Amino acid sequence: MPKLRQNIVTSEWVVISPERSKRPEDYVMAAAPKHGIPADCPFCIDNANAYQFSIKEAETENIYVIPNKYPAFVHDDSIISEGDGFYEDTKSIGGHEVMVIKKHDQDIFDDGKAIIEELIGVYQSRYLHYAEDPTNEYTMIIHNHGPESGASIEHPHSQLFSSAVMPSYIKRELDGAKKYFDENQKCVFCEINREEKESGYRLVYENDQFMVYTFFASRFPFEMWISPKKHQSNFEKINDEEKKLLAEALHHAIKKLNKALNFPPFNFWIHTNPHHQEETSEFYHWHIEIAPRVSKFGGYELGSGTVIDVVSPEIAAQFLKKD
Ligand SMILES: [Zn+2]
Ligand SMILES: [Zn+2]
Ligand SMILES: [Zn+2]
Repeated sequence: MPKLRQNIVTSEWVVISPERSKRPEDYVMAAAPKHGIPADCPFCIDNANAYQFSIKEAETENIYVIPNKYPAFVHDDSIISEGDGFYEDTKSIGGHEVMVIKKHDQDIFDDGKAIIEELIGVYQSRYLHYAEDPTNEYTMIIHNHGPESGASIEHPHSQLFSSAVMPSYIKRELDGAKKYFDENQKCVFCEINREEKESGYRLVYENDQFMVYTFFASRFPFEMWISPKKHQSNFEKINDEEKKLLAEALHHAIKKLNKALNFPPFNFWIHTNPHHQEETSEFYHWHIEIAPRVSKFGGYELGSGTVIDVVSPEIAAQFLKKD
């Protein structure tokens, strides 16, 4: 029977309807055809295309950072409204960067924790750079992997989007977390962690600092969350030890995904407390959401905003955990 499940943070409903699909095994990807490194890859250092724009102070041993060639947000000192009084529009202020792994064929999630730890360090330093600008309301770091995830260039890279506009999904999480806190005097994300630890139904992995679990009201089959065990509102405040253990958790989660579903396309993104907003730090709790892209939204999802997930998160967790 289909079940409606509520996202305890945002109050959104999702339909979990496992009978509509076959079994978790049916989501295992067919082996992707092997092809070499394209000679004209714009991110390969030898082609000297993008690398000439590398932001020197952001570069590390295995990663370089460049402004996006076709930015969604641009740096500008003033916001000028161009609305005509009926429709509103305004300049898209902010920044848009690409963090590029230098080696084209490096599978960072297969190779180990060191490169992921280095990447998390770059995320943190670029995040802190954008946090300094008072016009930036929110900075989101994302990673697309595979063409079905929206990655237009195969060369491994993450992206940072910093904007003067609060993303609507973050707004919903903040509003929901505040409501929960006002009613229960507790951080809803800490409470989710407690529940996942106690029940164990959806727990995929844990170490001293982080938990990985499939999400109770998932929008994507095999969706996983990585959440710090202790209450922590801001991703950018993680220390070196936490970075190491976060790298371990992310490495483990993607490795399990790759093993269970044979290297599926996926996205992940970091949800963290907004810039210049101390008052929400009591009840907001940063986390990473991993969204495998093994199913497509249809008309109902797009038209209603309500998602039908055809893999139960409990079965997904079991499937991901199996050796
Ligand atoms: Zn390349
Ligand atoms: Zn918390
Ligand atoms: Zn979130």
